[in-house]
Amino acid sequence: MKRFYCSCGQEIFFDNTICVACGSQLGFDPLSRDIMVAVPDNGKTAPVWRSNDGRTLRGCEHRSFATLPCNWLLAADDADDDVAQCRSCRSTRTLPTLSIEGNAVRRAKLEEAKRTLFYSLLRLNLVDAEETEQDMVFDFVEDQRINPEAKAKIAYTGHANGVISINVIEADDSERVRMQEMMNERYRTVIGHLRHESGHYYWDRLIRDDKQWLARFRAAFGDESGYQEALKHYYEQGAEPGWEGSFISAYASSHPWEDWAESWAHYLHMMATLETAASFGMVAIDAEVDSNFDALLAEWTRLTVRLNALNRSMGMGDVYPFVLSKASGAKLAFIHERVKQNTIN
Ligand SMILES: [Zn+2]
Ligand SMILES: [Zn+2]
Ligand SMILES: [Zn+2]
Repeated sequence: MKRFYCSCGQEIFFDNTICVACGSQLGFDPLSRDIMVAVPDNGKTAPVWRSNDGRTLRGCEHRSFATLPCNWLLAADDADDDVAQCRSCRSTRTLPTLSIEGNAVRRAKLEEAKRTLFYSLLRLNLVDAEETEQDMVFDFVEDQRINPEAKAKIAYTGHANGVISINVIEADDSERVRMQEMMNERYRTVIGHLRHESGHYYWDRLIRDDKQWLARFRAAFGDESGYQEALKHYYEQGAEPGWEGSFISAYASSHPWEDWAESWAHYLHMMATLETAASFGMVAIDAEVDSNFDALLAEWTRLTVRLNALNRSMGMGDVYPFVLSKASGAKLAFIHERVKQNTIN
């Protein structure tokens, strides 16, 4: 994430709706990927923003959320009056039962994480900022642990045909940590789920229908037949000993699709965190480093060692609990090359 500033000079953050220093109404414009200050008015009408390139923008409908309001903007002159939500919020197709206590906050937490995902996808030119026809859509699902009336005893997080399902229980920190321990995972976050599932979506978009890339994928990750059997085997037997030499996580060893999705999530973690580090002057990424994946990886390794050391000084666990083997690095390089060559937009 880059750094943002209010017109008064105050540093502001990606989720801020109001500047703490001057009280200005703030909004994030997905097209320019910048935070803008609303046009001053008497406060009686809904705030309006004007971009440098002459667009008039309005706030997302979810700006009214009591917890974690959405600060994203959309075109004010949108011909379609039905569109009341920003690029990120309107990709949500299914909501949990909002009359159930806690679900409104869970939903807002998932939306917050989704905006972070969309920021990365916009930056990597993987989504169109103004698209109103959704192809990647999200179902925020609940199960009987939250709503005794829900159909599913356990609702699974996953991807199918462009629809990403996220169980809203993942927004509860205590539940998520419990599941992390139960599954013996090194890392489990809401943004991690979203990045992983988006990987399955982008495999369909970037690999599946392209003969050459599909052949290269199979050479790098393996043949993708036998998915259900492979997952069943993984859940019964666990990962093969020594998986660390070839895979970024134990789960990545279950099947080439999961290896791709885990590597994709890792690539998004890396690109997002490197951008943040670079914007604070913690890593040096010039055009030369940016065009050389090995150099980018070297910066990443240096940074993660420091991040973990900082966390340990505060008595916290490692922020980066991964060991990046040569084989995993090569898979990230493959994804980087594919993303750079992407022609979606
Ligand atoms: Zn300000
Ligand atoms: Zn929104
Ligand atoms: Zn997966």
